[in-house]
Formats: sequence, structure tokens, C-alpha cells
Amino acid sequence: MTLNFSVLASGSSGNAFYIGTEKEKILVDAGLSGKEMERLFHEASVNPEEITKILVTHEHSDHIKGLGIFARKYKLPIYANEKTWKAMDHAIGKIGLDQKFIFNMEEIKTFGDIDVESFGVSHDAAEPMFYTFHHNGKKVALVTDLGYVSERIKKTVEDADALVFESNHDVSMLRMGRYPWSVKRRILGDSGHVSNDDCAIALTDIIGNKTKRIYLAHLSKDNNMKELARMSVENYLNERGYAIGTELEIHDTDPKVPTPLYEVV
Ligand SMILES: [Zn+2]
Ligand SMILES: [Zn+2]
Repeated sequence: MTLNFSVLASGSSGNAFYIGTEKEKILVDAGLSGKEMERLFHEASVNPEEITKILVTHEHSDHIKGLGIFARKYKLPIYANEKTWKAMDHAIGKIGLDQKFIFNMEEIKTFGDIDVESFGVSHDAAEPMFYTFHHNGKKVALVTDLGYVSERIKKTVEDADALVFESNHDVSMLRMGRYPWSVKRRILGDSGHVSNDDCAIALTDIIGNKTKRIYLAHLSKDNNMKELARMSVENYLNERGYAIGTELEIHDTDPKVPTPLYEVV
């Protein structure tokens, strides 16, 4: 049995990630309206009725907007750490106790035939954490909201077969742009978001022999462009001898269009 995933949506307007096998089908975050979530699943050719659980990364609205609605409709268990539960409880409507589960930071849980490991990141939420997914010796890592890529995070996600990684902004676009300085400082800071350049630098430590695909994620609508993000990362990696386009593929993500289901082989 193989592991498949799709970045259903990614960006500051909403995030959702699907990963699953025949047996276990997991949604991470539901940051778009209930209706939009339905559309994304449909476009990705995943039946939302087959989803088995939802994991939450943190309580920002671009990650939980449709969480309550979606979980109620499909009667799904939701997993998050205690601080995240506390921080998002008021924002997601009524969720039955039988649907609330704790997933601690730095814990490994086995869901069906997928092992999921959580790890903390520095980002301005209560206790933000992301996940790696393991199945049959394959590893997929998801990290999209972090101000700073620590050695510990690099170790956790290193040599993943496929990686969804934040490439949030172009530093000069952000600096020159119309955001107030307080917002710029937040984004540039250690608990904000990762720039295209910092993404590229981090990737040189993360990419291993097994790494075949990287998805650049959580691009800022105002301070980045797909082409710019991809060129920044590809140029940096090309200069350092990575075989982009042959052994290693760099893919875009979109705030409204799911990436085609990818089978991790
Ligand atoms: Zn966030
Ligand atoms: Zn976010």
C-alpha cells in the first residue's frame, strides 16, 4: 500500500493538507470555509467521507476556519495539543468530547498504517507544531509556519522523500511593500515566517538522497510570487550542484488549487 498526498490549499488565505493510504486518510488543518474544503477534496479526487481524522498545527484562522464545520459534518476526531485546543476552542463552535483528542508536541502516534510524529516550531501561536508522516519506510514532512529553522527541525525533517516547506516572502518585496513596520517586523522575526532565501538555505541541510520532491508553501499573496519563490530556491540549489528537474523536483502550491495527488514511491 502506498502513501499519497495533496497540498489541498496553501497560503495566508487558508491551508489544508491531505495525506493517506488505502486504510488511513488524514487531513491536516482546515483553514478554508466548509464549502471550499468540499471543493478542494473534490478537485483532488479524495472522498471527504473517507477521511479518518483531522490534525491541527495551530489556531491561526488560516488553519482552522472550516475545522468545526468539517469535523461536525463528517463526525471526525480532531487532534491538537492542549494549548492549541485552549486557544482555538471558542473559534470552532461546539465539538463533542468524543471528537476531542490530544496530540502532544514531540509525540509519535500510530494511526492505522501511518506513524505520525509531531514537532514544535517557533511561530506566534500558542504551541504551534507540524508533522512528519511515516509509512513503509517512506517519510513525508509538512512545515509551513515558522520564523526560524532550528537544527532540531532540520534533523526531524531531513531526508524526507517529499517535503512541504514554507517559502513565505521575498525579503525585498516585504521591505519595500505597503505593510506597516510592526507587521513587517513580525514576519521577518524569529516567530514569523520563512523567506525564500532562508527556505533555500535550510533545504541544503534537509535534502538527502531520498528527497525527490519539494513543495514551496504558504506563499504570501502580497510579498511573493510563485515564479520568484521557485527561481530563488532553484537558483540557490542549482549553484550548489543539486540536480533540479531530474533527481529533485520543486513544485508550487496554490491558495485555491490542490496539487495533484502524489504517490510517494
Ligand atoms: Zn500561523
Ligand atoms: Zn498560516
